[in-house]
Amino acid sequence: MPNLLGQSPAAFADSLLERGGRAAVVRRTATGELRVSHPELAELAEFLSHDERDFHAHQGVFFEVGRETGALHSATLHWTHRGQGAGGVRHWPYSTLEGLVRDGLRLSKGMTRKNALAGLWWGGGKGVIAQSAGERHLDPGYRRTLYAEYGDFVSSLAGAYVTAEDAGTTPPDMASVFTRTRHTTCIPPAFGGSGNPSEPTARGVVCAIDAALEFRGLGTLEGKTVAMEGAGNVAGFMLRELLARGVRTIVASEIRSQRIRELAEELDDPRLRIVASTPEDTSIFDTDCDIFIPNALGGSLNEATIPRLRAKIVCGAANNQLLDDRRDDRALHQRGITYVPDFLANRMGIVSCANEQYGSVPNDPAISRHFSRDWPSSIRVMTRRVLERSRDEGITTATAANLIADELAKEAHPLWPGRTRDIVEGLWQSRWHERRQA
Ligand code: NAD
Repeated sequence: MPNLLGQSPAAFADSLLERGGRAAVVRRTATGELRVSHPELAELAEFLSHDERDFHAHQGVFFEVGRETGALHSATLHWTHRGQGAGGVRHWPYSTLEGLVRDGLRLSKGMTRKNALAGLWWGGGKGVIAQSAGERHLDPGYRRTLYAEYGDFVSSLAGAYVTAEDAGTTPPDMASVFTRTRHTTCIPPAFGGSGNPSEPTARGVVCAIDAALEFRGLGTLEGKTVAMEGAGNVAGFMLRELLARGVRTIVASEIRSQRIRELAEELDDPRLRIVASTPEDTSIFDTDCDIFIPNALGGSLNEATIPRLRAKIVCGAANNQLLDDRRDDRALHQRGITYVPDFLANRMGIVSCANEQYGSVPNDPAISRHFSRDWPSSIRVMTRRVLERSRDEGITTATAANLIADELAKEAHPLWPGRTRDIVEGLWQSRWHERRQA
């Protein structure tokens, strides 16, 4: 496989098919050595062992070519001391295999940290499906087959990876995954799942804002001014809560006119102004406010927007808010802006569905403790801990959150210590990569 990492995922899938349709890179825990299923993957192992940006002693990367669709399916496991590697499956177009592998590495590491900070007994994992060229991925029949195949792939990993919803994957897709594997969360309520997590996500972000205000000695939300980028699902619930908590004004930007009309009808309040925007329009960043809330897409905090911020606190629901997490958190820190890392504030999406297998009760304490003032892993307590560590050690809040998360991530699952490591070793020993069904 010449220039393996520069190949398109489709070309990689074709070459994998000639070799049986599966491949894996698995780390030997004791020595850290990366073992490859096929000698042709040596370039991948070499790349991983020298990469300092995204590789972080990950446990393994698994690939399978879909039997009917020919799509490239993958699952990446980061650390699994706390339990099975859990995280959503992203369905996205990638121009190179390197792009796909990097996303798997970065996002699975992010899930280890998000899960650990949330006190969940899960490790970090992430699925990636390479979206095929053209419009095929929009066809419902194709998607049912694709996600059923993905379910088979997840089942073949024997519980090392537990999948969930992520960008590019929808609730009906999760229903298709669930037809073929028990190792999934975020299934539709009709099948015993937890349903739309947007409301608890909004509430969780508001708890993180409360903690940041308290840490800065700025009191409560009452009388505060807010600017928000994006007014979608999570924002709708958040706007309601912020208004109920007595904020002075909110300016929210939104690119969909239909959504602006919807919200204007639902939330008729003189304190709220929703402004029409475009994907290129970043004027919301110039708003004078106490709190800036990124609720749209990732990467909106960057070299161009951070210098313009006129807020004391930045905290929102969007995933991967920093365009470059090696640079942008420092820029926020240097400007004296208190940034609450997204993976700490927006945890309720995964929290809501992570423990679906244990059933649910009204006013579920397994959910509500995340909003409490005293549970050690609650959003408020964890936010305070992160902000204090950042202040005491003179490090950015993202670095502080990563350090705390990595310490917590090394705690072993109380009932099943080492289980996932053993599952992965079992897959390797039984030559998982040679057993794709015809
Ligand atoms: P959503 O798609 O309903 O809302 C995002 C909104 O932002 C949309 O209405 C979109 O039109 C708007 N938007 C996009 N680009 C914009 C721009 N440049 N300027 C202004 N508006 C823009 O999604 P959501 O479920 O509300 O989630 C919001 C964010 O939070 C996403 O990044 C999501 O990944 C993240 N998140 C959501 C949850 C959850 O429970 N839904 C959990 C964790 C993280």
